[in-house]
Amino acid sequence: MLLLAAATAGYGIVVGYIVDQANALTGGGAGSGDSLTRARRYAKIVLPVLLSITLISGVANYAQRILANAVALNAVGDLQKQMFSAAHRADYASFAREPLGNLISKFTNDVTVLSGALVRALSNIVKDVLTIVFVLGMMLWSNWQLTLLIGVLYPLAAWPIIVISKRLRGDANGVQEHIGTITSELKESLGGARMVRAYGLEARETERLDASFNERIRRYLKLVTEQARVDPILEVMGGLAIAGIVIFGVYQVSAGTTTAGSIAAILTWVLILSPRIRALGTLNNVVQEGLSALSRIFAVIDETPTIIDTPNAVPLTDPRGEIDITDAMFSYEDGTQALHGISLTAKAGETVALVGPSGGGKSTVMNLIARLYDVTGGSVKIDGQDVRYVTLSSLRQSMALVSQGVTLFNDTVAANIGFGDLSASRENIIEAAQSADAHSFISTLPNGYDTMIGEEGGTLSGGQRQRLAIARAILRDAPILLLDEATSALDTESESKVQAALERLSHGRTTIVIAHRLSTVTKADKIYVLDAGQIVESGTHKQLLKKRGGIYAKLHKLQLN
Ligand code: ADP
Repeated sequence: MLLLAAATAGYGIVVGYIVDQANALTGGGAGSGDSLTRARRYAKIVLPVLLSITLISGVANYAQRILANAVALNAVGDLQKQMFSAAHRADYASFAREPLGNLISKFTNDVTVLSGALVRALSNIVKDVLTIVFVLGMMLWSNWQLTLLIGVLYPLAAWPIIVISKRLRGDANGVQEHIGTITSELKESLGGARMVRAYGLEARETERLDASFNERIRRYLKLVTEQARVDPILEVMGGLAIAGIVIFGVYQVSAGTTTAGSIAAILTWVLILSPRIRALGTLNNVVQEGLSALSRIFAVIDETPTIIDTPNAVPLTDPRGEIDITDAMFSYEDGTQALHGISLTAKAGETVALVGPSGGGKSTVMNLIARLYDVTGGSVKIDGQDVRYVTLSSLRQSMALVSQGVTLFNDTVAANIGFGDLSASRENIIEAAQSADAHSFISTLPNGYDTMIGEEGGTLSGGQRQRLAIARAILRDAPILLLDEATSALDTESESKVQAALERLSHGRTTIVIAHRLSTVTKADKIYVLDAGQIVESGTHKQLLKKRGGIYAKLHKLQLN
């Protein structure tokens, strides 16, 4: 940057030198011999100077551009990595706090804005300021009277631009905000394509979005109209300023106090300075944008998780999988009290079903066992040890989760099962798949276990995805199984395959199941009925059925019907 600034400033000297040399030759004063010899001599003096300065400037420009970008990209890349690991370290609760799209846009949009701002700040603050300092120094040294005159003229010329720029900023913000509005309208309307078609809302939606698109045109045109004023005004004001310089310069030359070359040098410097000073003027906006992106990024990085290992946490060794929940209370961040003191137990190897109306607190109980959240009162114990005082890794290692929304990663089938145990061999994976009754359908896939699962596993049926999830859990071979049964019905064949696989999976493991299927419920060792954050009934299927007027008996009757 230093080199580039010096070389750029050097252009003025070179131009001045070229003009003075030419002047001397054509003026004939210092020249001798015929015109051709004089021209050769001129070229010999001027060309090397000209070429070296362009070369230095070119190389320096190339290097500084790459270096500045490398610095910015590396810095921002580090932040991106830190942000990602922070997002996964953060409390699970943080994911409920804002839409996932917002978090993702911090990784894409904010990161791009920040790295752009960094490059711009580096080059404007360092390179341009250096150039301005060098150029001003040379101008003062070369012709201080003229430089002082410019110092008075230029700010006057810049005044109208400053006024317009302020208005521009407001307009540009408006346009940005409106882009946000259009984006959410588009997402809503296109995302709801099924509803729109089913209810024949196409015309209404088109009209609604047309209005937004028209508004966009209006706002942009207003912005462009303002912007279009800037250049002509600059040109006229700049022209006037330069005319002033030329007149004063010619006066100086005729008075013999300076040379034509010196005037040419000053004009060159003025042309070099203008865009750089303008860039400094708009730098503030870019820096502000960068800073606000940075603060959004830091908010993610600086978030302190509360669900962490306590200082003297001990590992949960060889857990048998006995679960004791005593008087557990829980409120979500927004104040919703989801559990009002519930107690339940599951002996090692038992299957305990949680049933009840939606919103009753079943998922919350499961989240507490996995310590995705900490109880706000009471306790959750595994093998007599409070989950808050064992290490998180050993706790999570002791359980497998099969949930209705099966998470498949965009990787091979084998890898997707292998997430259950990252050290598993291919044989282990195949065994697990066999046990989950997934082997036969996997074998019919184009590349068997090495078939890539498209995003979200869109090509697999619901039952197949479930069985992959079960294979993953079998591979994990954990003493505790957390099972969130799928609510949406599978076809009868899939259903019975999934059911059989689940039975093999839960055999010998403590299973806490949010149960929707009758078969699961009837076979459970114990059933807890949760309603509005309280356990309202508990017992075996038979015991609960006998309770006339009980919620369970009612639910059961409803399902049978
Ligand atoms: P169930 O699994 O029985 O349907 P949940 O455990 O999901 O019930 O929910 C229990 C209560 O907690 C409900 O009132 C629900 O609205 C509320 N709830 C669940 N998740 C959250 C959350 N992330 N933030 C705030 N409230 C929540």
